[in-house]
Amino acid sequence: VPELERRASGLKLLVLDVDGVLTSGDLYLIGEDLEAKRYNFHDGLGIALLRSAGIKIALMSDRSTPPLYRRAKELNVDDVAPVVGGDKETSLNQLLEKMGLSPAQAGYMGDDLRDVPPMKLVGVPIAVANARPEVKAASVHVTAAAGGDGAVREAAEWLLDLRGQKEAIMAPFVQTREEQAQSANGGATGPAGGGD
Ligand SMILES: [Mg+2]
Repeated sequence: VPELERRASGLKLLVLDVDGVLTSGDLYLIGEDLEAKRYNFHDGLGIALLRSAGIKIALMSDRSTPPLYRRAKELNVDDVAPVVGGDKETSLNQLLEKMGLSPAQAGYMGDDLRDVPPMKLVGVPIAVANARPEVKAASVHVTAAAGGDGAVREAAEWLLDLRGQKEAIMAPFVQTREEQAQSANGGATGPAGGGD
């Protein structure tokens, strides 16, 4: 669809809901104050691929606990947007204002009802396989993978493919140093740091 390719090409920021998108959506409570969530390493490289393409990444969560900031640091994301009172629309607008971007220049990946308002505003709203039906209805694309199972990696490669950049961005990651030297005139840059 040319319209979708146009929107993907204008993308400057991808906002990721955390629970149920970057994680499986499961929350394990351990003893008095410990908790555990399941993230997926494939998403880390997906984030690195998007950043190589000049797309900023922001995490959005209303459970801004220390482990979230630890994961955000590991993933080398550009920002973490806290959510107050479940109002993700306000958080998105504040983030866009801070970054000097229009809603059309943003994408958003979500799984539950509170993700629908920000998804209605952005240029590329994406739902994960485990999203509620209302979230899928508000999206332009539903990933085959569920949150915590590589949905962000899948969406990253889908976006790069729409932008016609997938091969060029991924090439340096799979090439030997000799192959990289041979294709040095191909316009691809070296693998970016960060991610997994
Ligand atoms: Mg969620």
